[in-house]
Amino acid sequence: MYVSIVLFTADLRLHDHPPLRAALDGAREVVPLFVHDRGVTDAGFAAPNRLAFLADCLRDLDAGLRERGGRLVLRSGDVVTEVCRVAAEAEADEVHLAADVSAYAQARERRLRRALEADGRRLHVHDTVTCAVAPGTVTPAASDHFAVFTPYFRTWSAQGLRGVLRAPRSVRVPEGIASEGLPSRTALPGVSRGLAAGGETEGRVRLAAWLRTDVAAYADRHDDLAGDATSRLSPHLHFGTLSPVELVHRARGKGGPGTEAFVRQLAWRDFHRQVLAARPAAAGADYRTRHDRWRSLETAREDVEAWREGRTGYPVVDAAMRQLRHEGWMHNRGRLLTASFLTKTLYVDWRVGARYFLELLVDGDVADNQLNWQWVAGTGTDTRPHRVLNPVTQGKRYDPDGTYVRRWVEELRGVEGRAVHEPWKLRDPERAVAGAYPDPIIELADGLARFKRARGRD
Ligand SMILES: Cc1cc2nc3c(=O)[nH]c(=O)nc-3n(C[C@H](O)[C@H](O)[C@H](O)COP(=O)(O)OP(=O)(O)OC[C@H]3O[C@@H](n4cnc5c(N)ncnc54)[C@H](O)[C@@H]3O)c2cc1C
Repeated sequence: MYVSIVLFTADLRLHDHPPLRAALDGAREVVPLFVHDRGVTDAGFAAPNRLAFLADCLRDLDAGLRERGGRLVLRSGDVVTEVCRVAAEAEADEVHLAADVSAYAQARERRLRRALEADGRRLHVHDTVTCAVAPGTVTPAASDHFAVFTPYFRTWSAQGLRGVLRAPRSVRVPEGIASEGLPSRTALPGVSRGLAAGGETEGRVRLAAWLRTDVAAYADRHDDLAGDATSRLSPHLHFGTLSPVELVHRARGKGGPGTEAFVRQLAWRDFHRQVLAARPAAAGADYRTRHDRWRSLETAREDVEAWREGRTGYPVVDAAMRQLRHEGWMHNRGRLLTASFLTKTLYVDWRVGARYFLELLVDGDVADNQLNWQWVAGTGTDTRPHRVLNPVTQGKRYDPDGTYVRRWVEELRGVEGRAVHEPWKLRDPERAVAGAYPDPIIELADGLARFKRARGRD
């Protein structure tokens, strides 16, 4: 009988957790371990909103383990050094870990394997913990990954998924393994006021409510900005408080057009993971270059600041950017149109926008953020890379009576109906009401002409 370590990373749950199940099956005692990884902090990836959500997740994971007779062991430092240290203290034989796709995660796995093997211990990596279909499981004939979503989705949909695993009944942790104290979100500066609560318990409650009622209308309403009719499960998927395999099974079990549309979105996560696993450099470099000579943060500083602060003069763009700052989350339609505005209308490098999103998004994720930004910028996997979203048309279509704009743009609260999308056309006295709201920082026609020139399509 062994002692095993389960190294939790982006899989902070007890339900449907293959590494934990495998560790418990083989071992007498298990050390559930989380390391506040200095490498992640040094890479600038430890943003306040995600640290706050993480604190909730760790507390909830510890509470769940304690209900089962165990506890979470928490350390901080270099992840490999800390795992080896705990392995020596617990005289562990093996370590279980969820596979992950970023260059950092892949390097971490290699380093960990080498260090553990040098000490005579084994590393087991489980590949359907943070995704439903693992990268590399399905590939097209002539490549190591799919570069276009539609054929990927067809193949993905035909895959049989593993079954869902129950949460363990009991977990025995060896005596005498020291742990740091649990973090708390209240101690953290810079957290968005409207940030959602984290943790597996919270995630499961949200999932149950979503599947019981709201998912049915998802196909029709997912683009309705004011309706806020998407699942908001993205932070739970990012931190792994919910399992993608379980989500797909449960959604399919329910059936109907809403769940089909929802499952399709879950496939986008896996799609991005298999792209990044095969091309880790796509986190920072064009996946498909269009030879752009983007404006940089330095050359476009004023425009970038107006975009970040939600004062571009285009109401739906500003509403979405203010939602991001307030909640640490933004509706998908908002992400699409604010990213298009930055990269195409303002012609600013997609990395500038991606970095700002990562500073604030609670679900900020290397695969989903960087590859969605590339998709919008036309350097990624979009099959129509030169399309430009018009923020006025987008506003009128996805926020037809202006409710979303009025919710987030205080200056425009007194403007009724869809007129709120074009405040520059207002007549007195409504113009007086909107007085403090800025004029557009750019004419859309000018932005479009510059972009077309840059892409050689004028
Ligand atoms: C510029 C830009 C940046 C983005 N950055 C991130 C990010 O850092 N992290 C992140 O999780 N999502 C990101 N997305 C994708 C998407 O906007 C969010 O996943 C979604 O808005 C989350 O809300 P929800 O959970 O209510 O989604 P729902 O509409 O309920 O969808 C269910 C789940 O499907 C997945 N999903 C949906 N759309 C996408 C997509 N386009 N790509 C990948 N997965 C998707 C998410 O995990 C989501 O939780 C980004 C999109 C854009 C355009």
